[in-house]
Amino acid sequence: MDMHAYIDRLEEGALQGRLAAREDVLRLLELPSEGEDVRYLGRAARRVARAASQDTGRIWSAIGLDSRPCPKNCAFCSFGEAWGLVREERELSAGEVIAIARRLVAAGAAWVTLRTTEYYGFDRLCALARQIRAAVPGEYELVVNTGQMDEAEVAAMRAAGIGVVYHSLRLGEGVHTCFRPEERLATLRAIGRSPLRLAHLVEPVGPEHSNEELAHVFMTALENGASLSGVMARVNVPGTPGASTAELPEARLAQIAAVTRLCGGLRVPDICVHPASRQAVEWGANVVVVEEGAVPRSDGFCRDVWRGFDVEQARALLREAGYAVRPAASPGGAQGA
Ligand code: SF4
Repeated sequence: MDMHAYIDRLEEGALQGRLAAREDVLRLLELPSEGEDVRYLGRAARRVARAASQDTGRIWSAIGLDSRPCPKNCAFCSFGEAWGLVREERELSAGEVIAIARRLVAAGAAWVTLRTTEYYGFDRLCALARQIRAAVPGEYELVVNTGQMDEAEVAAMRAAGIGVVYHSLRLGEGVHTCFRPEERLATLRAIGRSPLRLAHLVEPVGPEHSNEELAHVFMTALENGASLSGVMARVNVPGTPGASTAELPEARLAQIAAVTRLCGGLRVPDICVHPASRQAVEWGANVVVVEEGAVPRSDGFCRDVWRGFDVEQARALLREAGYAVRPAASPGGAQGA
């Protein structure tokens, strides 16, 4: 079957709610990142985005609560103790987190993610989630991005007002991280059995990752019921082991975003790209990320948004690609989408 007919068939299946098979993911990832075939894929992915997201763009915000020299030494993370970039512990206070969350939600963020190192403490995180729910008005999802968790901890999160967990089987898990893939999978299954929704990107992607590795991580997201997926490129922070290697070209980032959109179909309403990319948004990603605080893609605490990319810029990017996006709140309070 010729490639355009093949993509047409996948688009039809996606619009009928079918998830694509692993072989489909692989075949689309094998396309050259430039040329008419991949542009055809991008246009099909954008049409699926229209149906899956009702053409709604959404802004994911993440607040890094703490940074510290971390003995886990994941190769792509600036907090790794062995790289010597982060020399002391630093945490945002609850008051600072609440102020940031209030500002992000009022500006139009649809998700507020509390991202921690492995050492923040589960009970503290749940207590903070409760405080945010009480202090920050508006329509938003509260998300956690933290360490491994069991079923009891997942249930406690739900009770604290958390609706989404970001958790992913990383590319190179067990090789570039000190976590065993089985630990990640156990947590993913615990989330899958709970009422919490799962957000799981394919990350952190570099040009060296094979199509098989990318497909494996994306299929893991699908198999565990992710309602948000997509792709995050690895950012090579100077001083980390990957600093001298190449970063992912934007064309390839956009291609992977398009593959996740077409192959996730209606079952994955939100497809995220990070860092934000105009081409990826035009090819089916409807979610971009604004980050503050401790950012593992930066060698310092971000007192402002990471790389200057704020909610206003995120909204403009999504709108230019044809998505409707929640406006900033009126002076009287946060508005719905
Ligand atoms: S990704 Fe998490 S566990 Fe790995 S080094 Fe960074 S803070 Fe530590």
